[in-house]
Amino acid sequence: MANFKNNVIDILNLDYGKSIKEASTVELYNAVSKAAMNTLKKDQGLNWKGKKVCYFSAEFLIGRLIYSNLLNLGLLNQFSELMSENGIDIRVFEDIEDAALGNGGLGRLAACFLDSAATVGVTLNGYGLRYRYGLFKQYFEDGFQKEVADDWQRAGDPWSVRKENEKILIHFKNQTVYAVPYDTPVIGYGANKINTLRLWQSEPTENFNFELFNNQKYDKSFKEKNDAESITSVLYPNDDTDAGKKLRLKQQYFFSSASLQDIVKKYKMVNGNDFSNFSMEYAIQLNDTHPVVAIPEFIRILMEDEGISFAKALKIAKEVFAYTNHTVMSEALEKWNVSLFKSVIPNVYKYVVMIQKALVKELKGLGVKGEEQQKYYIIDKNLIHMARLAIFASHSTNGVAQIHTEILKNDALHEWYEIYPERFNNKTNGITQRRWLALANMELSGFITDKIGNAWLTDLDKLKDLEKYKDDKAVMKQFDDIKKIKKHQLAEYIKKQEGIIINPDFIFDIQVKRLHEYKRQLLNAFSILDIYFGLKDGRIKEFNPTVYIFGAKAAPGYFRAKGIIKFINEIAKMIREDKEVNDKLQVVFVSNYNVSYAEKITPAADFSEQISTAGTEASGTGNMKFMLNGAVTLGTFDGANVEIVEQAGIDNNYIFGARVEDIQEISKTYHPKKLYEENPRIKKVVDTLVDGTFDDGDTGMFKELYTSLLEGASWHKADHYYLLQDFIPYCETKLKANRDYSNTYEFRRKCFLNTANAGKFSSDRTIMDYKEDIWKV
Ligand SMILES: *Cc1c(COP(=O)(O)O)cnc(C)c1O
Repeated sequence: MANFKNNVIDILNLDYGKSIKEASTVELYNAVSKAAMNTLKKDQGLNWKGKKVCYFSAEFLIGRLIYSNLLNLGLLNQFSELMSENGIDIRVFEDIEDAALGNGGLGRLAACFLDSAATVGVTLNGYGLRYRYGLFKQYFEDGFQKEVADDWQRAGDPWSVRKENEKILIHFKNQTVYAVPYDTPVIGYGANKINTLRLWQSEPTENFNFELFNNQKYDKSFKEKNDAESITSVLYPNDDTDAGKKLRLKQQYFFSSASLQDIVKKYKMVNGNDFSNFSMEYAIQLNDTHPVVAIPEFIRILMEDEGISFAKALKIAKEVFAYTNHTVMSEALEKWNVSLFKSVIPNVYKYVVMIQKALVKELKGLGVKGEEQQKYYIIDKNLIHMARLAIFASHSTNGVAQIHTEILKNDALHEWYEIYPERFNNKTNGITQRRWLALANMELSGFITDKIGNAWLTDLDKLKDLEKYKDDKAVMKQFDDIKKIKKHQLAEYIKKQEGIIINPDFIFDIQVKRLHEYKRQLLNAFSILDIYFGLKDGRIKEFNPTVYIFGAKAAPGYFRAKGIIKFINEIAKMIREDKEVNDKLQVVFVSNYNVSYAEKITPAADFSEQISTAGTEASGTGNMKFMLNGAVTLGTFDGANVEIVEQAGIDNNYIFGARVEDIQEISKTYHPKKLYEENPRIKKVVDTLVDGTFDDGDTGMFKELYTSLLEGASWHKADHYYLLQDFIPYCETKLKANRDYSNTYEFRRKCFLNTANAGKFSSDRTIMDYKEDIWKV
């Protein structure tokens, strides 16, 4: 370890013939990464002796690895020394691209789980896809979202190792490709345990041969190479509709099959052909329905390759697999058209049919009669229901926050809960405090460690010890000073990234997350307009200057979401140009929101906007990052907000709006147009979509948003997410929160109590819960 610094110097000299001062950022990045890799003990994750958990996920949103790996290896201090000795800012690697192999929360959860499992000592290896291009990079042109490909490997990928001789053949109808594994070590804090993230890359079975260039075989060879590589070329934006459906199923099967073949091969090396021990050796967690095709594939492998009977194979599958549900929205519960499925993997379809037959038999045994059976069918009216398949052929189905699990049991999956109550359980999501506090907010972590020691790094419940300072004005002042520092830093960063100057003395009110109608960024936009009009016409007299910060990517094919981005950018522009209000009000939409941006944004927030329609956000994890860093939640009673309030106290947060039970009632007679016509404040903000206040460049985007709220569209009823219902309570709560900010001490105390009570939301706790209840490691 002592020679880590020398090792960096040697590598630079050997690989590039340069000194530290001469090296480019990319060269330095590769040298530091390589030197850190050299300090690692051999990773044992995949070959561990005891029970191994395999986390199957189509997404791992790991962000930038270098700083978190240096932290976990205990090398961060040596690295800082080396940089300062050479006059280099330790933030030098902020130019290195994030590994954005995920869309949002679901992928980020998988990344936090990797960190936590390695830290708490659970052997958990991640299995997924090595996309050539990650989630697109976003920029704005005239306020419209534009997308460019995310070439995340531009500076190399020094943290992964290609395992050429562990590649695996994958068969589709009329196509066979190689799955080549790239292993990235997952280093637990203190480097006590090193697990593996194994991502599969698709390649042609024959090497592309340039000598064939002038030969007739060229076309065929070239096409084969392209077709093979296209399987892992792009990450799909999660709410895309029809485009690329087939390719998406291919991706799912590709990584599921490769991972299973790999696991079975390793199992047999130790246990021979006796599979009775399999579920003692392996647990497989399916992160949402994306990898559920692994279940029939597993049964296929056991039957075709190992000669095991269907009954026995299904029994083993049930013991091995567990399924995590991430959504109750029906459009996101995957269903595959039978003919599409058969055109990609006909030999797997046979096993889906067998599982369906076993289901029907079991339903009969349970006394579920004739017509009642259909709602359980895995194959139903030409569609294959992946969630149903997962619930039937696994031993555990979990939701990701208490309220979400209750909705699954009582509503979304109620019929399944009736027959298999013991399979349902809750595992409230979490985040790793190493990335989201220790690295993202060194000032606050230093303060905390100074007050209560550093045990919180691996035991977040320790934060509760902070409560003894809650009435200490001097301590609250220190806490307030840290928030000021983080706000200044974010303002600097936004100036550099966006070219926009924001006032760090304003309140920072922040909503960052994927752009989706259910998350209601449009509601936030309307409330800002309401405040704008209220300030202009004198209705609002007491107001603390505020900057409203947004960050979000919209799926490229999601027209409405893109309309909302343009709308918010138009509002931002109008307010920026209005001298009457721009000393009190600012709006900024930061571009290309990603993990690294989130690390800068979350520590700087005063208010965390978590305003999804009750019952729609399964858990949320952004809400936890903000809480941990000392922001108050301005939100609905939805997802993990419910538990945040339970932990930190209702008085220390701002909760508004219809609850799940209310929505169910309201939905029966909901008439948004009436609300619009009867309430002038609502009418005024909604009308800005069509009255010429803003310009959508003749795209029709704003008109479409207007219509969706008041008339509905073919696939959704009017105001499907109840924006107008919650509008007034939201505005009033927001204004009250704004006024409360005037009492700095009282307000910072609320923030402080959020930090002190964030212990539950460590992903270390979540992993321990999975381990004890589901994996039984
Ligand atoms: C945490 C995180 C998310 C999830 O945010 P939610 O508010 O829970 O939707 C999405 N994207 C990034 C980059 C994140 O870091």
